[in-house]
Amino acid sequence: MRPLNIAVLGATGSIGRQTLDVIYRNPGRFKLFGLTEGVRSTNRKATYLVHGHAGEADFDARVEAMIADPRCDLVVVAIPGGRALMPTLAALHAGKEVALATKEVLVMAGALVMKAAGERGIRPIDSEHSAIWQCLWGEERANVRRLIITASGGPFWAHPDLDLDRVTVEQALNHPRWSMGPKVTIDSATLMNKGLELIEAHHLFGISLDAISVCIHPQSVVHSLVEFVDGSLKAQLGRPDMRLPIGVALAYPDRLPDAVPPTTLQDLSGLEFHELDESRFPSVRLAREAAGKGGGHPAVLNAANEEAVNAFVARDIPFSGIIRVVERALSAFPGCGGTLDEILEADRWARAYIKENSVV
Ligand code: MG
Repeated sequence: MRPLNIAVLGATGSIGRQTLDVIYRNPGRFKLFGLTEGVRSTNRKATYLVHGHAGEADFDARVEAMIADPRCDLVVVAIPGGRALMPTLAALHAGKEVALATKEVLVMAGALVMKAAGERGIRPIDSEHSAIWQCLWGEERANVRRLIITASGGPFWAHPDLDLDRVTVEQALNHPRWSMGPKVTIDSATLMNKGLELIEAHHLFGISLDAISVCIHPQSVVHSLVEFVDGSLKAQLGRPDMRLPIGVALAYPDRLPDAVPPTTLQDLSGLEFHELDESRFPSVRLAREAAGKGGGHPAVLNAANEEAVNAFVARDIPFSGIIRVVERALSAFPGCGGTLDEILEADRWARAYIKENSVV
């Protein structure tokens, strides 16, 4: 069998680079077919090399040509943020397998994306969703009672006395367990990452929002859990290394030998699980409410959060201002339906709202 031809959208980010690593380590199995990256580099060999950013002149057209090429088997979506939505839909409409790292795509337009994916579904790369996906293999959906998404808690959860108005960008970027891009690292510190992941899980697995909860697990060994109607609990465990969920998504339904060092029984000693303090970290509640309202609300949550994170990194607002800004945008949003045009308009509305109301 010939190697699987893989296109990597967003090859310069953390997930993109680790995806290239997994591809290069398994040359008989995978082949880098094409990639997109923000900066031009010359040391890659692929049929398609697309430089630039989503939304730029002819970039989108060149990405679509790469995706539509009949030789392309699987598209890895690792472009950060809402810009990943249109290329994801293009890949699904072209009938390709999609391995998705960018949760914002499902937050914004989960119903549309899952409809476009149809029976094929989406292969999740987000570690929690990869864990739930693996727990669900061979299981009937009707036998699932609830999903439990684990959270490391980020850098501030373990410091209840810390004044969240005063934490610096450097402190927020210093994640205790995972090495990730800046957006998801800040989202981990506000716990908005878990809010977005709750909406992501709701769409990926068709489980109601009320049946998905978040728990704090500082060791990041248990990547998430599924509870079944008989009281059984299944979990997926492993080292906090994104090459594992990437390998699971690329090799499905097979597994890659030695993708990461094995988890030892010593790794399992002293595992802790704590309830999330939603009064200190209200992001999961905000996300659940936005997803419950549906229409453009999740897109507003997502876009307002992206813009607020940018404003925090630019030192325009304090850390605690991120969630305040998102909450204000959600209460000011008049609401709309859930067509693609309406969702994109809700996204634009939220970004404009943040820019016009950036004083917190
Ligand atoms: Mg995650």
